[in-house]
Parts: sequence; C-alpha cells; structure tokens
Amino acid sequence: MSTFQAPKGTYDLLPPESAAFLAVRDALAAPLRTSGYGYIETPGFENVELFARGVGESTDIVTKEMYAFETKGGDRIALRPEGTAGTLRATLEANLHRQGNLPVKLWYSGSYYRYEAPQKGRYRHFSQIGAEAIGTEDPALDAELILLADRAYRSLGLRGFRILLNSLGDQECRPLYREALQTFLRGLDLDEETLRRAEINPLRVLDDKRADVRRQLTGAPLLQDYLCAACKTYHEEVRALLTAEDVAFEDDPKLVRGLDYYTRTTFEFVHDGLGAQSAVGGGGRYDGLSEMIGGPSLPSVGWALGVDRTVLALEAEGITLDLPPATSVFAVPLGDEARRVLFTKVNELRRAGVAADFSYGGKGLKGAMKNAHRSGARYALVAGERDLVEGVVQLKDMESGEQTAVALDRITAEVTSRL
Ligand code: AMP
Repeated sequence: MSTFQAPKGTYDLLPPESAAFLAVRDALAAPLRTSGYGYIETPGFENVELFARGVGESTDIVTKEMYAFETKGGDRIALRPEGTAGTLRATLEANLHRQGNLPVKLWYSGSYYRYEAPQKGRYRHFSQIGAEAIGTEDPALDAELILLADRAYRSLGLRGFRILLNSLGDQECRPLYREALQTFLRGLDLDEETLRRAEINPLRVLDDKRADVRRQLTGAPLLQDYLCAACKTYHEEVRALLTAEDVAFEDDPKLVRGLDYYTRTTFEFVHDGLGAQSAVGGGGRYDGLSEMIGGPSLPSVGWALGVDRTVLALEAEGITLDLPPATSVFAVPLGDEARRVLFTKVNELRRAGVAADFSYGGKGLKGAMKNAHRSGARYALVAGERDLVEGVVQLKDMESGEQTAVALDRITAEVTSRL
C-alpha cells in the first residue's frame, strides 16, 4: 500500500465493478442522444461568482459545500458543484441561443464536487448525467425530460423509484407565497440559522430534513394554493402530458430542492432502497437563471441524474447488468515463435470486434492458463512449437475444457462463429 489514500468522501472505481458504472452512465445518456440533445463538455471549474449568483448565495451548496479557492493569478475559482450554471454560461458565451433553433438541447456527463459530510450515497466527488433544454417555455419540454429520465432508469431494470412533482410558481405568484410562508415560519420554534434562512429563502426551510422541524412544518401554507392562473395551467398541462404517457408521479407540495434557480416545474426521482440519500435524480425549470448570470430571458428546464446513486439503486434491487465480457479470448503462447504468431492473431481478433487479451511476460503454460482463467475469457488460444509446425492453434473452451485444433487462417472465423 502507498502512503496515500483516496481523499475523504471519494472512492476509486476499479475493474470489474467499474464496467457497471460505465454501463449506467451510457444507459442514462442513451435516451437523450436519440431525442435531439447534443453533447456538451464544460470545464470542471468556473468563476466562483457564476455559482454564487446562479445556484444561490443562501444555498448549502454555495455557503458550505463549494470547493472555492484563489489561483496564483488571483482568479476566484470553484470546482463545479453542479452542471446547469456552467452549461448555461457556455451557451450564452457561444451564442447558441441566437442560432435560431430554440430550445438549445444539451446533455453532459461529468464529475461534480461538493464538500459534504460523506455517507453512503453522498460523496465529495460524484458523477452525474445532465440534460438542459434552454430558451423555451413549453410544458411538453418539461414532460419530455421527465419521460427521458424515467425511460433511462427503466432501461436499467430499475422499478423501485418514484417521481415527485411540484410547481414552485413564478415571479408573479411566488413573492405572495414567500410572504405567507415567512409569516408562518416566524411563529415557529426554530434555531437561529433556520430563522435566518427563513428570511433569505423561506422555501428552503421546507426542504429541512430534521424531524423536529418537519413536525412544525405541518400546516405550513402550500405553494399550490398560491399559484397564479398561468402557473396552474402550465402545471396541469405537464401533469396531463405525463399521465397520457402512463408515467406515474406523486404530487409533492413540499418539494423545493436545494438550488435557488428553480421556477415552476420541479421534480425528483427518489429510490426507496437507498435510505437517507434517496434522491437518484432531480431537476426542474429555471426560467430566471439566464438573467441572474447576465444573459437575456431564456426560460429553460433540465435535470441531473446521479450515476453513483443509480449504481447503488441497482444493488438495492439486486439487479446485475448483462454486460459483454471484458475478455472473450485469451491467447497463451508457448515460446518466441508462438508469441509472434499469436500476437498477430490477437490483433486480428480485436479488429474483428472480439474482446481479446494476451499472456505477456513469457509465462509458462501453468501461469499463463491461470491468467486466462482470471480474465474470465470463454476461450483460450494455446500455441506451442508443435502446433505451429502443423499450422494450427488449440482453441480451448474454458467452460467445458474441450480443446480443438484450428488452422491458423481459420481462427477469427471459428471464434466469431462460436461467440
Ligand atoms: P442535485 O444537483 O443536488 O439536484 O443532484 C442531482 C443528483 O445528483 C442527485 O439526485 C444525486 O443522485 C446526485 N448527487 C448530488 N449530490 C451528490 C453527492 N454528494 N454524492 C452523490 N451523488 C450526489
């Protein structure tokens, strides 16, 4: 072991488990790639102000969880805690929204960083697949994103998740609700920090997970009773579109989520097998974010799905993904000439799309066969001097132990026909 360990709250993804992680990432992104979303990659760090303004000055993410620092050049930088602000910044910077094709639909995949108290499902470095549809207000777009996430989870075989749905209103109706909620919160027995939060962003108090706070919140005014006619109609349309597509959801009037930029539609995918960190994904509409970071009005909607927690959800449901084998054929050369010949054959197999590996390091038969077993390969290709004289190699079925001599120029055809 080295002197060093992975930093607290992080973990290394190692084979063979890492293959499932990659497959989950691919599956979560797959529905987006066939629904008009283009791939975007932005830097892992941004100007700290982008998150302060975008995510919200009073949020836990900005006040407590951001990895922020000053560079040697004096720039104030933060590792990205989420993907929406950077994606919108990049869209505005490249004027993607002015190219006449709204909404701008983008998807991304990457690492995000939050200085949180680590526990199962909550890490300081984690992985998300995200999607954003920028510049259009249309309930069908909100519904599309929820549908795509639902499809992504289902394609992995997940069934134990629920969709929570709410509307946070807009600049018309939210201020009225905010005031009513504030009046209610001021009358409760809350600690100083929570009372301060109630003054800055009272909706976030509804997100408080502590039992004594939750108890006091029963009877709090609900946003749904304050929604203006436009927000109500919009929300009803999102609900109707989801229902028409047979997507089951639960109305959750207390769902506010931890980021300030949300307006109208908000949703969360929660998995009941995950304990405290039950949110596997979430998102919503953020009609005001562009203006908050200095852009024009660009009503938008998006989500982020947590890859780490989706992997945990699969474990919780006992689902093993049906993945292609890492190695199908393992070549075992006995002697220098066999090494040259099999090296060529392995490359030929790889070009034909067969996952193939090779025993390196001039090992003897016993050691090399041990490697072949450990690789999980279905077949071993064994060749010694006598085989080469006869122009063949031995194709050994690793399950049955059965061995067949195959002519050198027939190897790829024989292996591909068997696999
Ligand atoms: P958020 O950006 O907070 O809405 O998070 C979206 C999704 O990312 C969540 O539903 C989680 O699945 C995942 N996520 C957020 N924070 C963490 C974390 N600290 N560790 C692991 N996954 C996370």
